[in-house]
Amino acid sequence: MTNDLPELPNDPRLSYLIEHLDQGIWDADLTTKTFCVSKAWCDMRGIGWVNRFDLGDDIWLEDIHPNDREQISAIVKGDVARSDGNISIQYRYRHANGDWIWLHCRAKVMETDETGRATRIIGTDTYIDDFKRSAAAQSELTEKLQLAIDASGIGVWEFNPATKTVHWDDRFLEIYGLCGQPNEQPHTVWRNSIHPEDREATLAYTEKARRDQSDLNYDYRILRPDNEVRHLRSLARFVKTADGQTKLIGVIIDVTADYERTTALEVARNQLEYESRHDALTGLANRRRLDETLQKLALPTSPEDIYAVLHLDLDHFKAINDRYGHAAGDAVLCHTAQILKDKMADLGLVCRTGGDEFVVVLKTAIPQDALGDICAELVQAISRPLLFEDITCSAGVSIGVAYAAEGTDHAETFRRADKALYKAKNVGRGGVEFYNINYTPPDYHIANARHDIQKAISRGEVICHFQPQYDAETLAIVGAEALVRWDCPSRGLLGPDQFLPQAALSDVINDIDRHMLELVLTQQTAWHKAGLAYPAISLNIAKDRIMRPGLGDKILSNIGAHHALSFELLETAFIDTPDRQLERNLAQLRQMGILIELDDFGSGHSSVVALQTIKPDRIKIDRGLVAPIVTHPDQLLTLGSLSCIARLEGAKIVIEGLETGLHLAAIRNVDCDVLQGFGLHRPVPADEFAALLRQQPQRSIAALNRDAASLGFTNAVAPRRH
Ligand code: C2E
Ligand code: MG
Ligand code: MG
Repeated sequence: MTNDLPELPNDPRLSYLIEHLDQGIWDADLTTKTFCVSKAWCDMRGIGWVNRFDLGDDIWLEDIHPNDREQISAIVKGDVARSDGNISIQYRYRHANGDWIWLHCRAKVMETDETGRATRIIGTDTYIDDFKRSAAAQSELTEKLQLAIDASGIGVWEFNPATKTVHWDDRFLEIYGLCGQPNEQPHTVWRNSIHPEDREATLAYTEKARRDQSDLNYDYRILRPDNEVRHLRSLARFVKTADGQTKLIGVIIDVTADYERTTALEVARNQLEYESRHDALTGLANRRRLDETLQKLALPTSPEDIYAVLHLDLDHFKAINDRYGHAAGDAVLCHTAQILKDKMADLGLVCRTGGDEFVVVLKTAIPQDALGDICAELVQAISRPLLFEDITCSAGVSIGVAYAAEGTDHAETFRRADKALYKAKNVGRGGVEFYNINYTPPDYHIANARHDIQKAISRGEVICHFQPQYDAETLAIVGAEALVRWDCPSRGLLGPDQFLPQAALSDVINDIDRHMLELVLTQQTAWHKAGLAYPAISLNIAKDRIMRPGLGDKILSNIGAHHALSFELLETAFIDTPDRQLERNLAQLRQMGILIELDDFGSGHSSVVALQTIKPDRIKIDRGLVAPIVTHPDQLLTLGSLSCIARLEGAKIVIEGLETGLHLAAIRNVDCDVLQGFGLHRPVPADEFAALLRQQPQRSIAALNRDAASLGFTNAVAPRRH
C-alpha cells in the first residue's frame, strides 16, 4: 500500500509503522483529486482496502455526517483556514455497518498554489468513537447531577487544605445568607458562622475526621449574618487529586424545616405522652403513671426499700357537686391537688386515681410519727374552706396509710392502705388511720362493696325503678314500690340481690335507703311541677335506719306538701318488745303523713307480734307464700288467714309477687286491697312509670286521692300540713 502513497520514502521501518499504527493515514492530491489511504484507514470504516479514491465526484461526501460535511468539503477544496496549514477536526463517518463513527482528523497542508490554496494535504484519522461516547455520557451525567443538586437545594463546597480556601457554590452561599459574595472564601468564614453552641463539637468532629481521613456526616447549626439559625447536614469526603494533593469535598443540606417538623412532632408526642399519664383536671399523675411507677418500684427486701402509700378520699364531695355544681367540685379537686403537690411532690408520687380519690406513694420511709403529722397537716389544709366564686365550700378528707412491709407485694400494700382508709371513714370522717395488722375489717369484700356502692351513689349510678301497685277491684294504679337498681358501667344494671346482701353487712344499706328517699322526693317534685297525678310511693327501709334517733327530723327537713310516701319495714322479726326509739320514729313519720307497712309478711323476717306493736297501715304478704297458689290451691287458705289477722289489726292488705295471669285469677277470692307483681307490671324506670300514669283513665287528682284515702293513704296528693 505504501507504494501507492506518492512520494513517501520507501523505508521499511516507516512501512511497518504505517501498517501497524492504529491510525488511518491518507494523502490527498487536490489538483488531481486523488486520495490515497492506508489499510488501517479502510479497516476503521469497515471496508476492504481500496488504496486510492477519486475525489472528483462528491459521492464520497455522502459518507460524511451531514453536520460535518461542509468543513470536510472545504478542506478538499483547499480552503484551510489556519495559516500554519495545520488541520484538526473531529467528524462523523458512516461505518460500513451503517453506524456513524467519530474520527479525529489531524492533517497538514504540504503544498499550495500561487493563491495560497492547499493543493496537497497529508493526514491521519484516529478512531475516537469510544472516547466521544464516554464524553457524551459524562456530560449527560454531569447535567443530571447538576439538575439533582439544583432541585435538592444542596450546596456544594470544596476545601483546599494547601491554600486554606473553600470554594462554595452559589447555593451554598445562599444557604449561608451570603448571596452575591465570591465563591472563594477563606476557611475562617465557615468556622465563624457555626452556631456558638455547636462550634466546639463541630470543630472537634471535623478535626478528628481530618486526622483519620474519614468521611464526615454530621449536623450542626449556623448563625447567619441576618441572625437566622439554620440546621445543616454536612456530608464530606477526603479525595486525592491528580497531582497527589488531598482535598475535602462535600455537600450541605439545609434541614431546618425537617428539624422544625421533628421538633414539633416531638413536642406533640411528649404532650400526648404526658396527657396519657396525667389527670387533665389537676395535672397530677393518673392511675396509669401510678401503675408504671409501681412496676419499676422494687419490692421491699430490706428496710431501705420500704415505702408508704397514702390513700386519700374526700368527704362530702358529692354534696359539694350536688349543691354548688361541677365547677365548684372541680375547684375543690384542684385545691386538694395543689395542697398535695405543694406538700408531698418532693417526697414521692402524687396521683389522682378516681373522682375524689388521691394516692401518694412515698418512696422514702418516713417514720410513722412524722408521717402522722404530715397527714394531719394535709387534713387540716384540705379541709380549710375554699372560696369559689362567691361560694365558700369545704370538703374534708380521710387518709389511710400503709407501709410496704418486707415480703408484701405492691397490691397488698395498696389493699392495706384501702383498709386503713375504710377504717378512717368509719371511725369518723376527716381522720387518718395507719394500717394495723391487728385491724381486719369484718370482711374485706364487704369493705370493698361498701366503698364501691358509696362511689356508685356519688356518681349517680344508684337509681330507682317503680313497680306499680293496683287497686284489687278496679285495677287502677294506686301506688308504686321504689326498688333500688345499680346501673353499673362495668357490670350492667344490677338488681338488689347482687349488692344489697353485702351492703346490708355494713351501714352502706342506710346510705342506699337515704339516697332512694332523695330520688323519690325529687321525682315527686318533678311530677308535681309537671302536673302529673301520682300516687304514694313505698320505700323499703332497713332495720337499722328505722331504729335510728333523729330519723324523723332528717326526713321532715326534706319533705314537702306534695310528697306522698309509705315506708316498708323489711325486717320486723326483731320487734318483739316495744322499743321507745322505734315508737318515737314511727309516730313522727305518721305525723308527716307517711304510711307504715310490714313487708314480706308471713316470711321468717316478719312477726305477727310486730303487727300489734307497730300497728301498720298495710301488710305486704310475702311473695314466697303467693308463688305456690297456682300449683297448691290450699295455699290460698294461708293467704286468707294472714289477710284475716291483718284486718283484725286494721291493716290493709297488699299481695305481691303475682307473677302470672294464673296468680291473678287465683287471688280473686282472697280478701285484699292492692295487687303487685310481674303479672300486672314489672318495675320500670321513672319515665315509663309516668307514662303508665298518663295512660290511666282520666281521673282528677281528687278522685285519685279518694281512692288512695280508701286504701289508707290519707294524704296522697293533696297539700299536707306540717
Ligand atoms: P321486696 O321489698 O319484697 O320487693 C319486691 C321484690 O319482688 C322486688 O324485687 C320485685 O321486683 C320483686 N317482684 C315483684 N313482683 C314479682 C313477681 O311477680 N315475681 C317475682 N319473682 N318477683 C317479683 P327486687 O327489686 O329484686 O327487690 C328485692 C328486695 O330488695 C326487695 O324485696 C327489698 O327487700 C330489697 N330492696 C329493694 N329496694 C330496696 C331499697 O331501696 N332499700 C332496701 N333497704 N331494700 C330494698
Ligand atoms: Mg318491699
Ligand atoms: Mg316484699
